[in-house]
Amino acid sequence: MRKQSNHIHKLKRHKYPSGNAIYFCTLPDCNFKIDAALALGKRALCNICNTEFIMTEYSIKLVRPHCPDCGKVKVKDADGRNRYIKKVTNKILVGVAIESSQDLRSRLDNATTTELEDDI
Ligand SMILES: [Zn+2]
Ligand SMILES: [Zn+2]
Repeated sequence: MRKQSNHIHKLKRHKYPSGNAIYFCTLPDCNFKIDAALALGKRALCNICNTEFIMTEYSIKLVRPHCPDCGKVKVKDADGRNRYIKKVTNKILVGVAIESSQDLRSRLDNATTTELEDDI
């Protein structure tokens, strides 16, 4: 048996039929498991880009948690429907909106998440 692991865990969510959700490490030779709720504030490896990040209230809801840079953001499109778009795309959209839209302010208020604000 290995003792304490010395890596940053790469987490995947698993939900039991009982409704309890846990995260377990998907790396070889690692049996790490943690209650989903208790993963908050823990270091983890991004499932998309493999960089280390801290689990947030948002990421502990994801099946494959990823770092903020790989996140998608929820925005409202012109018809007022919610859409999830990649952040990189979103930056471009916001840039366009700044030039072309008078109601950017209200639109941003609808669309903004704390993640998005970091970029502005
Ligand atoms: Zn691990
Ligand atoms: Zn990432």
